[in-house]
Amino acid sequence: HLAPKSDIEISQAAKMRPIVEVARDKLGIPAEYVQPYGHYKAKISLDYVASLDAKPDGKLILVTAISPTPAGEGKTTTTVGLGDALNYIGKKAAICLREPSLGPCFGVKGGAAGGGYAQVVPMEDINLHFTGDFHAIGVAHNLLSALVDNHIYWGNALGLDGRRIAWRRVVDMNDRSLRSIVSSLGGVANGFPREDGFDITVASEVMAIFCLASNFADLQRRLGDIIVGQTREKKNIRASELKAAGSMAALLKDAIAPNLVQTLENNPAFIHGGPFANIAHGCNSAIATKSALKLADYVVTEAGFGADLGAEKFFDIKCRKAGLKPDVTVIVATIRALKMHGGVAKDDLKAENVEALEKGFANLKRHIANVRKFGVPVIVSVNRFSSDTEAEIEALKKLTAGEGVECVLADHWGSGGPGAAELAQTVVKTIETQPSNFKPLYADDLPLVEKVRTIAKELYGAADISFDASVKTRFAELEKEGFGHLPVCIAKTQYSFSTDPNAKGAPSGFTIPVRELRLSAGAEFVVVICGDIMTMPGLPKVPAANNIEVDANGRISGLF
Ligand code: ADP
Ligand code: MG
Repeated sequence: HLAPKSDIEISQAAKMRPIVEVARDKLGIPAEYVQPYGHYKAKISLDYVASLDAKPDGKLILVTAISPTPAGEGKTTTTVGLGDALNYIGKKAAICLREPSLGPCFGVKGGAAGGGYAQVVPMEDINLHFTGDFHAIGVAHNLLSALVDNHIYWGNALGLDGRRIAWRRVVDMNDRSLRSIVSSLGGVANGFPREDGFDITVASEVMAIFCLASNFADLQRRLGDIIVGQTREKKNIRASELKAAGSMAALLKDAIAPNLVQTLENNPAFIHGGPFANIAHGCNSAIATKSALKLADYVVTEAGFGADLGAEKFFDIKCRKAGLKPDVTVIVATIRALKMHGGVAKDDLKAENVEALEKGFANLKRHIANVRKFGVPVIVSVNRFSSDTEAEIEALKKLTAGEGVECVLADHWGSGGPGAAELAQTVVKTIETQPSNFKPLYADDLPLVEKVRTIAKELYGAADISFDASVKTRFAELEKEGFGHLPVCIAKTQYSFSTDPNAKGAPSGFTIPVRELRLSAGAEFVVVICGDIMTMPGLPKVPAANNIEVDANGRISGLF
């Protein structure tokens, strides 16, 4: 009996192929358009992708999940496993994922490159510095921060009010000590002291812009549209007025091309961009998804958090803006999380409990109904854990059948692509037999407040939304300033349909309190903050960073 291997041991045993060969053999990309970063990572030339413009797009498969437990229910592993499984059954398939942030990597969650036998490699590189995109994004963001303070230092011709500067600074690290700081201390030569602070790089608006831009010109335009702060008369000041957009775009010139790596089974994986799923929309770059759709017949992609947040933003923000038309949605569920939604405590999830599973099914049922409201066919994929029992699986299959949904057991975590072959067959069959009539949930011209109300009532099951006079004024201001046509990006807990993380299952009749609105004018959405929102996480008492080692041969361990 062999001890189970850790994720990093499995990934280090992978037989990787040179990335130039993966690009050529799996996607037909000539070597001259593959810009390698070492042997196993590359950027794909955007000029080459543009040359494929007349080619029809492949099929787009979204992987989302029920309301998760803190450990994650397996969206990334399912995305990787389904991509491998589609290749295994003979399809030309690629996956698209977000780039991991260093914050969670050294914090609670560890790396984010899949797990078990469903991983992308080289895992250490992907989790650590990768191709430098996050560095470029962070530096582009901080360049604008420097230009703001420099503008004030040299006379402040635009009249920026130091108390109304919205543009903070970023670093890709969980560092709570930087959340609120005072900058420009130390005397006359250092500028005008003001309250400032840091967010994690993945929460930067530059990250969201990077992921929604359709091309380089669009990227530059959006960077210029960023609102950095206001004057004393509350007039918005944009990055373009500080003449910042050109140099920010220059810093992103290489980063904007999508990164190609491979799965453990040598299948193509695009990993590009990684915006937060609360203050931003939580999916990989539109450029990577669109490139993959030109290069493969099937593209599997993940949206962060549960379907109430991740899938909604994928549909209403990313697909609306990028003109994407998803063909099918896979909702990942786990037996243990369904039992948790049925009231079982965290420590008792391993024991069989069909009754709790049936009760907790309410959560999955609402997510299924929600995805159908976007006109996209649904499949449920059960991410198999060793503690799942036959009786529980049978019960779940019966419940999903009652909703007219196929429910497939997937064991890619334990056995790679072959373990998800049935899921892949079901995906292909569904695409061939059930046309997608994708449409966003709300129209562009619906007022912002009604957009929020529609999502809260239609998807969350809320009775209504609530807000105080200051939020009401802000809604009106944004409409008046011409931002009413933008989609909304809701920031709330992922653990419940409501704003109470402990309200499991499918609560209803609650109110969604809207606490604050933040305009992301460059990303082109309005962030609607409902509950506590963290843009600079902290590290836990025993962070993952404490377990990571490098041996004398340079081999890393402990990185999950
Ligand atoms: P998500 O993308 O939904 O956050 P991941 O796919 O990243 O979730 O999985 C979260 C963690 O759970 C990873 O560490 C992964 O290795 C682990 N995991 C996923 N599926 C299984 C499984 N079937 N059995 C055991 N561990 C799993
Ligand atoms: Mg994930």
